[in-house]
Amino acid sequence: MKQFDFNKKNILIVEDTMTSSRFFDAALSRTNANLLWAEDADEAIKIFDEEKVDLILLDLNLLTTSGFDVLKYIRKKDKNIPIIVQTAYILSGEEEMSFKLGASDFIAKPIKLNQLIETVGKFLNQKEENFTESV
Ligand SMILES: [Mg+2]
Repeated sequence: MKQFDFNKKNILIVEDTMTSSRFFDAALSRTNANLLWAEDADEAIKIFDEEKVDLILLDLNLLTTSGFDVLKYIRKKDKNIPIIVQTAYILSGEEEMSFKLGASDFIAKPIKLNQLIETVGKFLNQKEENFTESV
């Protein structure tokens, strides 16, 4: 099978739902990415300000805060960092609003493993490498 290698890339995952977090952890740990976690907008902004972040996976529905707040804040400071919005509940206009506020991409849950890895890989600009699974 083919596998992406995101070695040393810092991916900030903004997500408040445990089942989603487990999925992202399982999917992205295999790519050797370094995963940073935030559960709400304040945590996400704090990590973005303090760490070198290469890509952000952003849930829109965050406890008491909105992913849109994170999107607005980060886009004001950084025009280029890839921000992939991902959400379970697609309300009317959410996708359009995400792109209007500067999202790089938008994916709807449930997210398929390949879809996630390929979308992240597209932005991290890594070349695909042949991967031999060892048993
Ligand atoms: Mg959520």
